[in-house]
Amino acid sequence: MTLHTEAPAASHHQARTMRFEEREAPAGLSKPCQVCVTHRPNQDGYLYKTWTVAGRKVKEAFHRFIYRAHNGWDEWPAGLECDHICGNRACCEPSHLRPLQVSDHKKVTNTLRYAEREEAAHCHWLATGCTGTALADKFGVTASTGCRWIRQWTAEGPYAP
Ligand SMILES: [Zn+2]
Repeated sequence: MTLHTEAPAASHHQARTMRFEEREAPAGLSKPCQVCVTHRPNQDGYLYKTWTVAGRKVKEAFHRFIYRAHNGWDEWPAGLECDHICGNRACCEPSHLRPLQVSDHKKVTNTLRYAEREEAAHCHWLATGCTGTALADKFGVTASTGCRWIRQWTAEGPYAP
């Protein structure tokens, strides 16, 4: 089979070819993550690309561009953000991306951060056996949250997921 590809449009000219490599995705995702190895992400861990569209420079998060192009959207809908289901900000695998309302996105991100903090607190508690108040101080939560965590961990036992 011969593939006839059109010459890249001048408006979407890229200075450097982008190359992606597969990375292991979290359980439950059927495809591996696709991470760009030729371009560095910014401080937030996101890859940005600058396009020249109709003579104007436009900067867009690359994963958002991928999702948009994959779905044939000319523009990104206002009020939506592009969420990484895999949690890997550098990933550009379209099936790992989904549009979320900005408010929902914050919720998902906060839930993830909270879960990470609880995980870290759990490790600290297992190592030190400290009180809920001490946990609260160390991990920046209220004392009642610290105590609730310990109650949960005690109830779950050491082998609970
Ligand atoms: Zn991914």
